[in-house]
Amino acid sequence: MPKVYNWHIGRETDYRYEEAHPDRQLVAIFNTNRCLACQTCTMACKSTWTFSPGQENMWWNNVETKPYGGYPRGWDVRTLELIEKANPGGQNWKTNQKGDRAPYGVFDGKTIFELAPIERFALGYEPEDEDWETPNVYEDTPRAGLGRRGEYEKGGEFGKHPTWFFYLARVCNHCTYPACVAACPRQAPYKRKEDGIVLINQERCWGYKQCVQACPYKKAIYRPDTRTSEKCIGCYPRVEGTDPATKGQPMEARCMGACIGKIRLQGLVSIDKDGQWTKDPEHPIYTLVHEEKVALPIYPQFGTEPNVYYIPPRWVPRPYLRQMFGPGVDEAIERYTNPSRKLLAILQLFRATQTMIFKYEIIEGKKIRDVTTNGKKREIFNDTVIGYDKSGKEVTRISVDEKIHVRPAKYRNSV
Ligand code: SF4
Ligand code: SF4
Repeated sequence: MPKVYNWHIGRETDYRYEEAHPDRQLVAIFNTNRCLACQTCTMACKSTWTFSPGQENMWWNNVETKPYGGYPRGWDVRTLELIEKANPGGQNWKTNQKGDRAPYGVFDGKTIFELAPIERFALGYEPEDEDWETPNVYEDTPRAGLGRRGEYEKGGEFGKHPTWFFYLARVCNHCTYPACVAACPRQAPYKRKEDGIVLINQERCWGYKQCVQACPYKKAIYRPDTRTSEKCIGCYPRVEGTDPATKGQPMEARCMGACIGKIRLQGLVSIDKDGQWTKDPEHPIYTLVHEEKVALPIYPQFGTEPNVYYIPPRWVPRPYLRQMFGPGVDEAIERYTNPSRKLLAILQLFRATQTMIFKYEIIEGKKIRDVTTNGKKREIFNDTVIGYDKSGKEVTRISVDEKIHVRPAKYRNSV
């Protein structure tokens, strides 16, 4: 197989096709510390794209309670088990030797492409029908198990570790090296040059389900009535700017724009010919991923270079998080817990507007208070952050110090 460079793992990996990159890449950042599992994102997607007969069990966006929730059930545990079986004890990271091209260290294990069985292009499995039936099994539940039928009816039990959970919102990662693209014998899934969105050509798809089996995130889903596979389309008409609400400017996807918890920020980043992100310190997503380093790829060791990044939850045991987000977790949590002035300002941009932000500017404000977090003293300044769309027009302006509106007494206890 050809070799491609994957900067998440700091080295080359096998891939079915020669290395090629889009001009721009659709990227999202999810702040897990803020998700409340309201499922507004899930329903925004469902009511837009997957409401038809035959799509009943199809959730392009889902929010699962980790560690036990999952859609399809147990998707990550089963993939990790497959990998462990194929490469026992070998999934480790080495300290970074290559500077900026390996920001999280060098992965010393094997990716799903390197572990592919001889007749395939990626290691994977096809979930069973019951795995797709119930996206919310184990919501808010600390009981152990992979959610096979019969297990969850037994009722609650506490596991052997201190109880904790967090909500993990998931969409297709529009990967740089998509396993769905690699696996298909019909070349039905493809990656767009203009924005890196991965689509499945419905006319080419013959329903072989190779993409379903290969995608380690299980975001390619089979539709029985059309006998084709479908997946998140990144709301590409909105990304292209065809929604009248933004007057021709690129717009965030439905799940992003609907987020109640303001955990999501989506944008388009420029990609150099060698696959690296073009240096752009005025872009909020570039700054969060490459400068502030608070947002990390999910399961980077799978090797697909996913383009959804997560700010990890502060309260979850670190070994679990290091397995899910790689060795950058400790630094990311430290930086998020004690944010720089710049980071605190940029975090205000999450869900401030549905128009994609291509550039931010910070206007410094007055000091408003001293705070102590985890024993560290910090000063808080009421800085203002301004977001600009692709054309350079201001689309949002928001300050660090949120205004509090006190409801007048005459409206108390009224709806
Ligand atoms: S997350 Fe899965 S379906 Fe989406 S691009 Fe990556 S491999 Fe393909
Ligand atoms: S809308 Fe936002 S806060 Fe609500 S579940 Fe989805 S990601 Fe979480």
